[in-house]
Amino acid sequence: MRKKLFKSESKRLLDLMINSIYTNKDIFLREIISNASDALDKLHYIALTDESVREKAGAGEINISVDAEKRLITVSDNGIGMTAEELEENLGTIAKSGSLKFKQELSAEDRKKPENEIIGQFGVGFYSAFMVADELTVISRSYKEDTAHIWKSEGASGYTIDECERAQIGTDVIMHLKEDTDAVKYSDYLSTYRLRSLITTYSDYIRYPIKLPVEKTREVGEGEEKKTETYTEIETVNSMVPIWRRSKKDAPDEECFKYYKEKFFDYNDPVSVIRMNVDGLISYKAMLFIPAKAPFDYFTKEYKKGLQLYTNGVLITEACDALVPEYFRFVKGVVDTNDLSLNISREMLQQDAQLKVIAANIEKKISAELKRLLEKEREKYLTFWSAFGVQLKYGVINDYGMNKEKLQDLLLFYSNTEKQPVTLKSYTDRMKENQKNIYFACGKTAQDIEALPAVKLAAEQGFEVLYLTDEADEFVMKTLMTYAEKPIVSVLAEDSGLVSEEQKKQTEEKAKNAEELLKFAKEKLGESVAEVTLSAGLGESASGMNAKGGITLEMEKYFAQMPGENHPKAERVLELNPEHPAFKALENSYKKDPEKAEKLLKLLQGQALLTAGLPLQNTAEFCKLVSELMHE
Ligand code: ADP
Repeated sequence: MRKKLFKSESKRLLDLMINSIYTNKDIFLREIISNASDALDKLHYIALTDESVREKAGAGEINISVDAEKRLITVSDNGIGMTAEELEENLGTIAKSGSLKFKQELSAEDRKKPENEIIGQFGVGFYSAFMVADELTVISRSYKEDTAHIWKSEGASGYTIDECERAQIGTDVIMHLKEDTDAVKYSDYLSTYRLRSLITTYSDYIRYPIKLPVEKTREVGEGEEKKTETYTEIETVNSMVPIWRRSKKDAPDEECFKYYKEKFFDYNDPVSVIRMNVDGLISYKAMLFIPAKAPFDYFTKEYKKGLQLYTNGVLITEACDALVPEYFRFVKGVVDTNDLSLNISREMLQQDAQLKVIAANIEKKISAELKRLLEKEREKYLTFWSAFGVQLKYGVINDYGMNKEKLQDLLLFYSNTEKQPVTLKSYTDRMKENQKNIYFACGKTAQDIEALPAVKLAAEQGFEVLYLTDEADEFVMKTLMTYAEKPIVSVLAEDSGLVSEEQKKQTEEKAKNAEELLKFAKEKLGESVAEVTLSAGLGESASGMNAKGGITLEMEKYFAQMPGENHPKAERVLELNPEHPAFKALENSYKKDPEKAEKLLKLLQGQALLTAGLPLQNTAEFCKLVSELMHE
């Protein structure tokens, strides 16, 4: 067959492999073995529902052999095999595994860091064989066919595919090792001792036996004739007990973390591993991980939520969606049970009542672990929170707040008195006796919020205020409404209780007296405000911007970022401080020089907008007015 070229992105990775800039070449074997194991998983899954395939599928095993003279290592499996098209598709194209994409997402700077040497961390699969081999041959027979095919490549120049024979279904990957150099002795890999150690290090948990011919010695003959002879015995090298089936003693956290990183393509340790071993009506084992960072595709449609599901040693699905609720979609891991019916289809699986029982338990376990981290390992929780806090917030808001009770104690908000993120529980524990509400204020940054007159007012009364800087925050508070029976209230709300009834009454009185001026103000400012009022809550500020009706200023900002037009707008209320000298000046000029009064009003409105983090109505005009103030 004519030589074919690799697809361009495959070629790039191939170049990396061939030139082998990665230090940890050892991992090639793990990659090839894990492909063999996947191929066995796939075949056994199909065999569940297809009798004819079941007959062809033997007990799964992976055989490794070595031909030292010819410098060959062969990894054989009796798994699903590949047709000619599949050989072409799977081995001619890479980047199906997320690794390459992931690497592209990293900045050039990050890519250089040793901890991000991705190939050393987790799989790039098949091509990693080119780190040690200068020629690769794959002989494969698919379970669908009687003919086999041979795929051959000497690296970047391309590959060929031809027909050939193979007695049984499955795949052989034959690697011809590179010549030794001063720096690397590739022939070390020809030692079964070396291979054995690679298998026990990297592939011990593979569920199928990995068999290797091991050289042994024995005594033969009697008396004078007695001598030692060497012979080869095929040995199963791996323990075959998957990590999640082992006790904590046999699978310490570090080992689980290693497994997690390889399996789920992460280069960070997770913040936590959760082990479950349930014996009951439904028995199962599970190992769950709470990641420390969101994967690059986490907020895209490509991200697949769910846990791996094994029943009776067969991998049913890579991502069983029904096992984790949406708001914990960051959790990765595996569930292994013998209690699910085997010939169930993937669609029906979602409905399975037993699965729901497992899912409910898993949810409780995740909640409990997150609470434990929050209370006992705060640093780790903060790491988790910065990656997935937003997810929990949306969990509160979504489904009409149905899950708010489950999630509210996991939320953190920045507190202006504690100077750090706090829980609602700790806030209410600190509340003053005379404090009726839980207070929050929204803005872009803590600095912006700090400047709000209403926040100052709360501070003067010794009340703690939660600073909300995240888009979702205000919606979260609106959904929660109360915590521990305490109303959660914006410092800007009319009924915030920060201004005394007495003061309110006085201000109302003043507003009545200034009725004409307020009417004039509304007229001059036109559609840009819904109302102009006096407020006793402005402290030292001359003016402030607030909103009436259901949409707050923060919500308006949030909607404004969404695509499309005609976003909901807040009904803006310009509040003036009757105690401020600026108000006196306004009153005076209203009587004597209405034109000047209009200018002052625009200045007061501009200030209020800026303090609220909103854009000015007319920047040029505002600047001109400010400059005018500076005239002698
Ligand atoms: P990944 O395993 O991450 O998908 P690889 O480059 O390792 O990427 O392999 C590409 C594809 O080739 C696999 O997804 C699989 O479909 C196929 N493949 C590799 N090795 C085998 C094998 N031993 N048996 C059957 N298919 C295989």
